[in-house]
Amino acid sequence: MEIQDITDWGLGLSEHLLIAGPCSAESPQQIEAIAKGLRGSKVELFRAGIWKPRTRPGSFEGLGSEALEWMEIAREILNVPITVEVAKTEHVEAALKAGVEVLWIGARTTVNPFSVQEICEALRGTDIPVMVKNPINPDLQLWLGAFERLNKVGITKLAGIHRGFSDPYEKRYRNKPEWSMPIHLKRLIPGISVICDPSHICGTREIIGPVSQRAINFGLDGLMIETHNDPDNAWSDAKQQITPDTLKIIYESLIFREFVSDHPEVVSELDKFRHKVDLLDTQIIELLAERFGVIDQIGEYKKERNLAVYQPDRWQDVMQSRINEGMKRNMTEKFMKSLLFAIHEESVKKQEAQLKEVPSTSKA
Ligand code: PEP
Ligand code: MN
Repeated sequence: MEIQDITDWGLGLSEHLLIAGPCSAESPQQIEAIAKGLRGSKVELFRAGIWKPRTRPGSFEGLGSEALEWMEIAREILNVPITVEVAKTEHVEAALKAGVEVLWIGARTTVNPFSVQEICEALRGTDIPVMVKNPINPDLQLWLGAFERLNKVGITKLAGIHRGFSDPYEKRYRNKPEWSMPIHLKRLIPGISVICDPSHICGTREIIGPVSQRAINFGLDGLMIETHNDPDNAWSDAKQQITPDTLKIIYESLIFREFVSDHPEVVSELDKFRHKVDLLDTQIIELLAERFGVIDQIGEYKKERNLAVYQPDRWQDVMQSRINEGMKRNMTEKFMKSLLFAIHEESVKKQEAQLKEVPSTSKA
């Protein structure tokens, strides 16, 4: 997939992109107050929701095209480009007409390939940058699919936004972060930047700072933070919005991690450790291969005696004893379980495949 880096979008955006602005545009006065408050901050892109996807009808649904005109106020005060959410053709057309520089696709839209395709058709022939929020459910393929659709109609200025995932059992966050997802996405789409939206992850303003820092620690490429002049009285997402002053304080306290490739002395020091890791990985792979060799022998034995491939009692014992061993050595139960499941699944598959093999005697 051809991807143009955020820094090459021609909008003066940096590799530590900060996007700020209200959840929803409410009035020209509100946009003006927020933009003025953001003066002197590191904001590089101003956001506002014009059409709001609300979970239930009757909530504030945005003021539509009228509000698009107010974006000019922020553009002038801050001298930065604007981004708005689009969910259908009509939104795209209005946003393009109003000269909005960057579009974003919301989490509720990414889940629906029909909607994403509709947006793509409306974008065909343009090269406007598009940021795609993760779908509400942790489905990497759905997120990836949206980028592929956009890329197919010629959009190469693409970025992801991690805004967490809906989880009915989650208490701490409004949308639970799943930090491995943006990392996987970056592996699948080399060159893509993924920004974090701590506002929709947290749902409450108190933890915006620590979650922003975690995003940076995990190597995410920027932050989108909902900012309002009067957060408590915001028309949408009141609890999670922060004032421009709070945003400045949070942003100043963040520690940005550097890329090691910028420091040759660090690279050579790290290389010593990495060499050890390489050797250990080779040993792990050799041991696994040896283990699977024994699994094949067991498989043959089970086949000859007509024994089931999956023996629940044995599997329980294996799990419990290995998990205990791992935990004694500082590995988490969750990690041990996923490791053992992966190994076990492969073992069962191999033995099951052996059952299908035609015995060599009957070939003759
Ligand atoms: C928003 O950014 O205001 C928004 C609606 O977010 P999400 O699509 O992540 O729910
Ligand atoms: Mn919001």
